[in-house]
Amino acid sequence: MRLVHVAVPVPAIDALTYSVPEALPDPVIGARVLVPIGTRVVTGVVIRAGSDAAPEPQDPAPALKDVIDILDDTPFLPADVLSLTAWVAEYYACGAGEALSAAMPPRAWIESERHAQITQAGLTRAAGERGLRADILGGLLDGKPRRVDALAARSGAYPALARLERDGLIQVTRPLKGTASAFRTVRVATVTAQGHEEFGATGTRQLEALALLRGAPDGMDTTVLNARGITAATVKRLVDLGAVAITRRTIERDPFEQDAALPVVPRKAVTLTDEQTAAFTSLRAWADAGTFAVGLLHGVTGSGKTELYLRLADEVRRRGRGVLLLVPEIALTPSVAALFRGAFGERVAIQHSGLSDGERHDQWQRIRRGDVDVVVGTRSAAFAPVRSLGLIIVDEEHDGSYKQEESPRYHGRDISVVRGQQCGALVILGSATPSMESFQNAQTGRYRLVTLKRRVLDRPMAAVKIVDMREEYAAKGPDVILSAPLVAALGDRLERKEQAIVLLNRRGFATVIFCRQCAHTLECPNCSVTLTVHKAIRRARCHYCNYSMILPTTCANCAGPYLEQLGFGTERVEAEIAALYPGARIARVDRDTIRRRGAITGLLSRFASGQLDVLIGTQMIAKGHDFPRVTLVGVISADVSLGLADFRAGERTFQLLTQVSGRSGRGELAGEALVQTLYPTHYSIRHACQQDYGAFFDDEIDFRTRMRYPPMLAMINTIVKARTREGAIEDAGELVRALRSGGEPYKVLGPAPAPLSRLKGEYRAQFFMKGKNRAAMRKALVAALASRPDIRRRTIVDVDPISVL
Ligand code: ADP
Ligand code: ZN
Repeated sequence: MRLVHVAVPVPAIDALTYSVPEALPDPVIGARVLVPIGTRVVTGVVIRAGSDAAPEPQDPAPALKDVIDILDDTPFLPADVLSLTAWVAEYYACGAGEALSAAMPPRAWIESERHAQITQAGLTRAAGERGLRADILGGLLDGKPRRVDALAARSGAYPALARLERDGLIQVTRPLKGTASAFRTVRVATVTAQGHEEFGATGTRQLEALALLRGAPDGMDTTVLNARGITAATVKRLVDLGAVAITRRTIERDPFEQDAALPVVPRKAVTLTDEQTAAFTSLRAWADAGTFAVGLLHGVTGSGKTELYLRLADEVRRRGRGVLLLVPEIALTPSVAALFRGAFGERVAIQHSGLSDGERHDQWQRIRRGDVDVVVGTRSAAFAPVRSLGLIIVDEEHDGSYKQEESPRYHGRDISVVRGQQCGALVILGSATPSMESFQNAQTGRYRLVTLKRRVLDRPMAAVKIVDMREEYAAKGPDVILSAPLVAALGDRLERKEQAIVLLNRRGFATVIFCRQCAHTLECPNCSVTLTVHKAIRRARCHYCNYSMILPTTCANCAGPYLEQLGFGTERVEAEIAALYPGARIARVDRDTIRRRGAITGLLSRFASGQLDVLIGTQMIAKGHDFPRVTLVGVISADVSLGLADFRAGERTFQLLTQVSGRSGRGELAGEALVQTLYPTHYSIRHACQQDYGAFFDDEIDFRTRMRYPPMLAMINTIVKARTREGAIEDAGELVRALRSGGEPYKVLGPAPAPLSRLKGEYRAQFFMKGKNRAAMRKALVAALASRPDIRRRTIVDVDPISVL
């Protein structure tokens, strides 16, 4: 019997063993196969075959199911990507198929859905049926198959359908969906040999069409013909006459062409500064070695890291090896992607979630075929099937968006390092504010360090000043949002026709609706958080589950009319600045204003071209933008993230402040940053204002060592969800008991209600594991979960969590 292990995209399921029936050939590793799971048919990927795929001893020996079909005769995923997904499945303790899903392009999974069709018996007996059964049969009388989920839209319909099937009145089939080619095709009209000859009795329209087509030996897209006034009827007539043939042609969707979000920036020649030259000499030597190594490029904002990436990529590419560039979010860091496209043109592919499925699919296929040698993308691009990978660059490596916050919860930077090791590639991590993990690795010698201490062309760093909000409150009361120095500095910039960025990492107008009569605050019905006021749309909205309601005018608890709005977000800051400076051209960038695709690009390019004076926004505007006319950055409430009970709060605050200050004074004009805070002496804020990464690292590593937090230890966060608060705590407690067997080489903390104790209607309890030996912790946790599959289905395992909230 031939056996295969198949990874299937079903949460928390490991690979399953199937037998291969006689009629099918030997499947290759990495091929997609159709397999049955319960009553469904799903696509899986073969991850082991032949003698390697003998069933595990604990697998129940009998009743192995057959593979239904083999979809590929060559590996769909290349070997290096497959082994990366295997690593992800183990390291992040998720299912093999879940890890694979992260590597698959859109439309690669083919699934079945159920269709119901009336039988002969059903046709004859339909008239005698009553109620729901009669309704269902009535909808099927034309004999056509209908989707079961559509038929079962009414309550009670599923059991009724099952009984109708058992009684032989309907037949339920599972046709496969998604088998059609995922490529986009267009219909192309071409003149036939006959059409090239003189044609007799044709109308003027037809003659016109023929004339057009005769001038296009490769044929013409029928939509183009239509646009030129040749109707489909005319084309059809010519086809009937044998003068024109219609064929289908595959076309590739090119996101660079479709999307204003990805301007192509032509490469301009610059001479490297001495500091850049020294750094590049090291980087090139490492690339020349052609073996695995990790380099951390620590360069202050505006030090010209991108130029080094471009040159290094070019070197590696010329040696015939592939290059992968990861960026946190393409729309927020468009410059690097655009520069790469400008430098390498057609040889660049792009992979990120903002693309349509079709575009992503086509780009993926280009990479897989080897038509490109440079891939630019967000975290999932770490799985891109780049041939002969020689260099991986992770730009802004400290950025939290590299971590996927749903299963598989991988970190794009960390798996890049693993992939580099597996492929023998050089990995370069770049940042002005390296993560604690990466800088620690550079300190211990695991990573090599290159430093750029100065901005290019001797441009000074922005002068950062602290505004102590306690003094502002004392002078003007607790309602001050914009401090006097910030108001003055803004007015100054507006007068001088320079630009300003104002950051507040909290969106909405107000953060709490509070009743002055009964002290009730308006909470989300599904989550344990207050609803945020969004004034422009007159709604109160939950930022976790998106629940929203019309702004109430009376209290939901006591019906009193004295509702007050407390706290403030970006929408309020925008209103304040607009009221202070009525003539100023202001725009706001946060998740509320950029819902539409391309909206953010529009706003940023209007700012870049000087059509806007002030840009207000959340952390979205803090990233790697290069706006030379910005000479002021204002930070409202620098401490938004400091108060949070998260061990990374200090690190995140330091990064955000340093990055946003780095947006100021990048051109020829010197820049300034004003940081409003209630904790002027907190080390994160102090060191960010002095732009002193080294001092921050020393203080922070001290804190992590004392409190036993990563990177000094490994940590795993486990969240158990349940319908009740007690149920969640109890189930988490079960797991914790199993983990505390005595003598274990780690500590378990908890269980306790998660900081977000209720989310989307479910209660959540959590516990942490901390220890030096990550593998031992993971192994114990996986074993504990395996003994409780009922709990496992409701459990989130987060290895190396980035956010513990
Ligand atoms: P970083 O990514 O380190 O913040 P960038 O790579 O965005 O900095 O560089 C900042 C600006 O300096 C860019 O406009 C870039 O084109 C320019 N630049 C980089 N290197 C040089 C150089 N050697 N000479 C002149 N300009 C440079
Ligand atoms: Zn909610």
